[in-house]
Amino acid sequence: MKQSILRGLPLWLGLIYFGPAFASVTLPQEARVPGGIAIIPLTGLQTDITPSAWYKGNRVMVLSSEGTPHQRQSRWIAIAGIPLSAKAEKKQHLRANATSYYFSVEPKEYKAQYLTIKNKRHVEPNPEDVKRWRREKAKMTAAYKIWSTPNLKKVQFDLPAQGPLSSPFGLKRFFNKQPRNPHSGLDIAAPHGSPIIAPADGTVVDTGEYFFNGNTIIIDHGHGLTSMYCHMDSIDVEIGDQLTRGKQIGTIGKTGRVTGPHLHWSVSLNNTRVDPILFLNK
Ligand SMILES: [Zn+2]
Repeated sequence: MKQSILRGLPLWLGLIYFGPAFASVTLPQEARVPGGIAIIPLTGLQTDITPSAWYKGNRVMVLSSEGTPHQRQSRWIAIAGIPLSAKAEKKQHLRANATSYYFSVEPKEYKAQYLTIKNKRHVEPNPEDVKRWRREKAKMTAAYKIWSTPNLKKVQFDLPAQGPLSSPFGLKRFFNKQPRNPHSGLDIAAPHGSPIIAPADGTVVDTGEYFFNGNTIIIDHGHGLTSMYCHMDSIDVEIGDQLTRGKQIGTIGKTGRVTGPHLHWSVSLNNTRVDPILFLNK
């Protein structure tokens, strides 16, 4: 008993000393589940140059571990978004420089949601709509894949709109009883016309009026982290605009496939949609 307490002591001292009060990077909440985030200490990589890490074919955020709870374990940490399609029974493989890292994912059950959509084309799009949607998807994917390297100190977001969180991330979705893709973001219900703000510093990398998403903005926050705002009424920014946390980017609307005014907010890490809740400072 006594021995195990003594053995645990250095770890506790480490946590106290390197705890959040001294942190130079504020990390998101880790959740090794489908739609979650894995924070992987890149043990053994002593290089001074930021290692380049890859997971499922996408480049992954790597930051210095300095000031984080992982500082004693490794010089660098990878922060990887885990896709909703990840299987718990399969070991996940992340590569950094020439080293392989493996991690497991815990299963997570997401609830089902049934929605009734009045505009039938938003449930069964015609061939022209499908063509349009494919073009739009390619444009959005290009934005998700943008790689920029600003000095990222806070991998955390403020809520981009004020209102109840009406639909969580990950819901299995049925539109007019037909199964569709799971909910890739977090919905915030707010009155038509209320402000939407940039939840962190970033650069506007895409705006558009999209078939399903309506009036949309994508912001790049660097290192493969992007955030997207859909169904907006007005868009108050342009591609290339540099945003500081808190700046208004537009207003709440009900454009695209919606049942009423709300903000659909999605967050992408390494071209993978993950639960935005994990980035909110509790
Ligand atoms: Zn939504």
